[in-house]
Amino acid sequence: MEIKIIKNILAANEAIANENRLELQKRKILALNLMSSPGSGKTSLLDKTLELLPAAGLKSAVIEGDIRTTLDAERLARHGAPIIQINTDTIGGECHLEASMVRAAISKLDLDGVDILFIENVGNLVCPAEFDLGEDRKIALLSATEGEDKPLKYPLMFSVCGDVVITKIDIESILDFSSENAINNIRQVNPRAGIIRVSAKTGEGMGDWIALLQKWSCEKKADAGLEIL
Ligand code: MG
Ligand code: ZN
Repeated sequence: MEIKIIKNILAANEAIANENRLELQKRKILALNLMSSPGSGKTSLLDKTLELLPAAGLKSAVIEGDIRTTLDAERLARHGAPIIQINTDTIGGECHLEASMVRAAISKLDLDGVDILFIENVGNLVCPAEFDLGEDRKIALLSATEGEDKPLKYPLMFSVCGDVVITKIDIESILDFSSENAINNIRQVNPRAGIIRVSAKTGEGMGDWIALLQKWSCEKKADAGLEIL
């Protein structure tokens, strides 16, 4: 019985996710679902990304998911990109975003001219992996502070994502964190994942990350163009 209920919830979520995908496809907006444990640097990565994207000719918008507070949205507001905060505790305390929440946020955001929509999921390595939001890519972050073993302990998260961003690499040596071991662990659960290493603090790797965003955005526009033809 319980299994059936969960299947129904996921099927209903999937239907709304597909609507979101169509809407974003029409607007040629690349949507990225950023997922990770709390404190792994999702907001810091976004902060640095929003700072660098205008020079790369890309306009962005952000959906911030948190159980409570608007702290992350306030932190990112200085960049002037359209941003909306979803507090999941006002809708039942969920520890993940669902497609219906993203649909509501999309309808409120000014997405005119936006190239990339960043969706910062609730900090949690478990259930966000199960909910399709209508994004183009799921991206998992793994910070040096969390340790190399997380991909093995939370295999679903690291296997559903297309790409993994290893964050806080500036403090790897202090923490005895080995990116090489982390990458091996990621490869064990997801052999085809794209992997990139960054430090939002020092800027190391940020150029590669921005180049990747440019490439994905270009591909999205080409794909969306073909669909319309
Ligand atoms: Mg955050
Ligand atoms: Zn959850």
